[in-house]
Amino acid sequence: MFIIQRNTYFFVNLRTNFETMSNQNIKTVAVLTSGGDAPGMNAAIRAVVRTANSLGLECYGVREGYNGLIHGDFTKMGPRSVKNIINEGGTILKSARSSEFKTPEGRDKAFENCKKHNIDALVCIGGDGSFTGAKVFNEEYGLPVIGVPGTIDNDIFGTDNTIGYDTALNTAMEAIDKIRDTATSHNRVFFVEVMGRDAGFIALNSGIATGALDILIPEQKDSMEELFGTFRKAEKVGKSSSIVVVAEGEKLGNIYDLAKATKDEFPNFDIRVAVLGHIQRGGSPSCADRVLASKMGYGAVMGLVEGKSKVMVGVKSNRLIYTPIEEAIKKHNEIDKDLLKISEILAM
Ligand code: ADP
Repeated sequence: MFIIQRNTYFFVNLRTNFETMSNQNIKTVAVLTSGGDAPGMNAAIRAVVRTANSLGLECYGVREGYNGLIHGDFTKMGPRSVKNIINEGGTILKSARSSEFKTPEGRDKAFENCKKHNIDALVCIGGDGSFTGAKVFNEEYGLPVIGVPGTIDNDIFGTDNTIGYDTALNTAMEAIDKIRDTATSHNRVFFVEVMGRDAGFIALNSGIATGALDILIPEQKDSMEELFGTFRKAEKVGKSSSIVVVAEGEKLGNIYDLAKATKDEFPNFDIRVAVLGHIQRGGSPSCADRVLASKMGYGAVMGLVEGKSKVMVGVKSNRLIYTPIEEAIKKHNEIDKDLLKISEILAM
């Protein structure tokens, strides 16, 4: 039986209920990936296409995000179009940033193309920028839209994790582990920059997982004096090498300036900087991301046939939930302050 609780699905014997639930006005859905790519987007596309197919819906993939809507770059997709992609990083539909979609003329062209392909609803896999685009498009033309959070930064409200975050976190952790080997061999101090322009989730969690001496994130006010204090404490307790994990968006300064200021204060330190960069976006998605993307892709199509629109599908405490897209855009997940405290205690 397929039981629906308020905003929550429990899955038992889906097929019976697909038949009863597919009796809706939506006959054709389109799916696109937009904004920054994230590992697991392919697993989400696969889930959207196969769920739609199992409900007897037609499905189109739109290439290169909103640019594809504007230029009519649609491709019909069936279950075999998404074979062998669940383990692939990136997105087979390609992603893009579209400045034209930010203009009313661009969105007008996009809607004309949706009409041409009889699109009844749009699944948008991306981050908060992409959701803003989907929201504006829905408000102007009334086309039902649903967002699927695909971004490595994990900075989206309405879900415990975003697609790609777990993979990126593990990539960062593995890279920092390797840096630790060389840091220990040479008694060096490494400043390692990880992704996260506005959010410190990757920095905080990879920092804890790799035993970083200090973790600098945009959500917390840091000072050079505190950082220097931590280095002094570390020297006192006999630490001979250290790693400081810094989020890209750290407000205290860029990583090279932080390293230079530290060298000025501690001239005897052998300091190196490593910026992990785009390796964090790539690679085969982790098991957690594949499962999450599968649930969310399924939940997106089920939400649409149920009549939901202008919402984002998310997974909280293992349950599929839907959050109004405005809230998903405006609100932010709080960083776990306890984790910061734990990291400080465990660093020495
Ligand atoms: P992300 O989805 O990863 O946050 P972006 O912020 O680059 O990535 O947004 C992706 C795309 O969403 C933009 O290139 C643009 O096409 C669309 N978009 C963002 N904001 C708006 C807006 N205010 N109106 C229309 N489209 C928008």
